[in-house]
Amino acid sequence: MAMIATRTVAAGVPASLSRFRGALVAAVLGDCVGGEFEGAEEVPMESVLQHLNSLNDETKGNGILEYSDDTAMARCVVQSLLTHAGFNEQDMARRFSKEYSASPGRGYGSGVIHVLKKLASPQLSDVYQPARNQFNGRGSFGNGGAMRASPFALAFPDIASVKRFARLGAMLTHSCSLGYNGAVLQALAVHLSLQGALDLPQKFINTLITEMEEVEADEAARNDARILKEAEKPFCERLHRVRDLMDRSKVSIEEVISELGNGIAALHSVPTAIFCVLHCLQPQECFPESYGGVERTIAYSLALGGDTDTIACMAGAIAGAHYGIKAIPQTWIKFCEGAEDADLNAERLHMMYHQLSQGGTSGTGEQSCEDRAESKLTASDGTEKKPGAK
Ligand SMILES: [Mg+2]
Repeated sequence: MAMIATRTVAAGVPASLSRFRGALVAAVLGDCVGGEFEGAEEVPMESVLQHLNSLNDETKGNGILEYSDDTAMARCVVQSLLTHAGFNEQDMARRFSKEYSASPGRGYGSGVIHVLKKLASPQLSDVYQPARNQFNGRGSFGNGGAMRASPFALAFPDIASVKRFARLGAMLTHSCSLGYNGAVLQALAVHLSLQGALDLPQKFINTLITEMEEVEADEAARNDARILKEAEKPFCERLHRVRDLMDRSKVSIEEVISELGNGIAALHSVPTAIFCVLHCLQPQECFPESYGGVERTIAYSLALGGDTDTIACMAGAIAGAHYGIKAIPQTWIKFCEGAEDADLNAERLHMMYHQLSQGGTSGTGEQSCEDRAESKLTASDGTEKKPGAK
């Protein structure tokens, strides 16, 4: 019973290591377990619970569920941010294209493959150009920028940097504002969750709306929304829908899909992921009693169908930042490729974040955060060593 209690409550102090580990690890889990239902129109909760239950079978091998493009690209973001102790667009673009050519079978969309191949060209001087040229110069509004945006919130403590670099990082492949502003929204949600903002859900959603009001006031965003015949501030409008759904005592899966969507557009998936987290803050009858918040959030994300791996990945990051690593079952970590790596990287990002919050500069350090983290992990008395997941 004690274990259930610790997995139901939030992860304590703001920006704790547990929250960083929870965010990065739960994002990988969402991606890995979400692959099973990707593209499905209807996913009964029974099938979701059966799938998740199979992760408790210790007779199966480790890392059996492979991660997809979501995690592959997020890993590139993490490594680039750590290596440069800040954002370096040339390096990040190079890592994306190298990762794709080393492991192309991770479920990349056809549009982004085109961009990634062009990013591999040594003649390319402007790394943003291939993305800008897509779709007759209008750029992509898919969720590929948002699915890898969480690490920006784990690297930078100040909200202005989170917004700025999440946007720039997404623009390497998604140059339409309805794509890169989805990345900004996802990074903001993780940033706020890390601070403990989900303890007050109404304030959390209101803060997101206020922040996105400013983000979407941008001329390019207004122009894109007009061309695509969306609301004047599309993400704000969706967040208002999220708030309306939160206020209802009962909401069906069908209503959530019809109001928020479950597709590959950032507009039809980032607000959905945020709703999944908010909706699952409290225990519900449809989940086993033993489920903590991360399990509930991921299970609910899968039950929506559609782009399940990306929605569960984004919702997992936000939920993981709230509940912390203790909310994540160790058996799930073992089953998912890349989850243990994510746990180690979370420690390094945690160090970078706290160095920057103490006045360190980004992007100029001679020794990277990764190097510093390595030496700290090796030289410490054991208190900084990777603890068990629980
Ligand atoms: Mg994917």
